[in-house]
Amino acid sequence: MIDVFKGSFTQQEPIPDEGIAAALEVLKSGRLHRYNVVEGEISETALLEQEFAAAMGARFCLAVASGGYAMGCALRALGVKPGDRVLTNAFTLAPVPGAIASVGAVPVFVGVTEALTIDLEDLAAKAEQADVLMLSHMRGHLADMDALMELCTARNVKVIEDCAHTMGAKWKGRLSGTDGVVGCYSTQTYKHLNSGEGGLLITDDEEIAARAIMLSGSYMLYERHLAAPAAEVFERIKYDTPNVSGRMDDLRAAILRPQLRKLDAQCEAWNARYRMVEAGLAETPGLTLVERPEAEQYVASSIQFLLLDWTEGKIADVLARCANRGVELKWFGSDKPAGFTSRYDSWRYAPSKPMPASDRILKGIVDMRLPLTFSLQDCALIARIIRAEVSAVHQFR
Ligand SMILES: *Cc1c(COP(=O)(O)O)cnc(C)c1O
Repeated sequence: MIDVFKGSFTQQEPIPDEGIAAALEVLKSGRLHRYNVVEGEISETALLEQEFAAAMGARFCLAVASGGYAMGCALRALGVKPGDRVLTNAFTLAPVPGAIASVGAVPVFVGVTEALTIDLEDLAAKAEQADVLMLSHMRGHLADMDALMELCTARNVKVIEDCAHTMGAKWKGRLSGTDGVVGCYSTQTYKHLNSGEGGLLITDDEEIAARAIMLSGSYMLYERHLAAPAAEVFERIKYDTPNVSGRMDDLRAAILRPQLRKLDAQCEAWNARYRMVEAGLAETPGLTLVERPEAEQYVASSIQFLLLDWTEGKIADVLARCANRGVELKWFGSDKPAGFTSRYDSWRYAPSKPMPASDRILKGIVDMRLPLTFSLQDCALIARIIRAEVSAVHQFR
């Protein structure tokens, strides 16, 4: 009998009871808007910002409507203007070039390495074209952040970090999102905290923080923030910063606060699942696992492997055979965007030149989610299925 996996790749854990109780309190109060507080009351959103800033060791934090909004807001707060060029990863998801396009700027795509991180040589070659790098830690893989920051600092390139997949991850002990001038996070259902939709932005720069808060739609109520700079900083920027509404509401903040308290344990749980699948796939002929550097403390809410130099037909065969046995794999190599996957040349609003070295890697990237509803036994079974199907197809290459 052949094993079939019966679980769901899109099923997350329930919201913790504490979060449900806090959400009910907000609902009963009727005060869902973050600035709708009674005398002496502090909103759930302001508290979440204070707690997230503390958890990340950042001076300032702003909660917003989505991760994509956080990135667009960061670009605006940095003064990126229509027509400006912004460096970003060729291997990322659609909201990243989308955030750049949302301010009228133009993405300059930088290649991807076999480690699935941004190619620092290509970055060095293209750095002079832009003042800002929107760095996407795609699928949780951290580039050598020391080398990257050195390169960008030397060339006066400001770094915004897209930490949609690295909340809680570290490079040499430094939390992801704290090396760049701004760190952006998503609390969309498939990320590390789940409020359906939502985003967070951190920075240590008081002017960027004040601008981001004004941009998010604070009107003149910015003094109701706890993780914000002093009022005098707002005085300097408030009349020339537009309101581009994208606030978070108290309902989402209420369900996020208890989740934030569990973040470290959740990260451990993801990594245990990752290591189980990784071990099960080790030394599968034809399959390349992604090596994780010693300096990287990852949070693996998904796993990637490479079927390098395989034909499209064989890769499609592997995906179909795994799907038949209940294992949902995503392929980043397709020339047509499918589901959540796409590649730099599928964003036709953004110009791009072919990048053969990156194309070879993109063609081979296979991706799989690791929701915490999977048990370790589930992960072992999934790895056996992938191993068997990759081996079967590989034999006949
Ligand atoms: C999800 C995601 C985002 C944006 O998050 P939303 O909250 O969905 O807007 C940004 N970057 C990457 C890599 C993502 O996966």
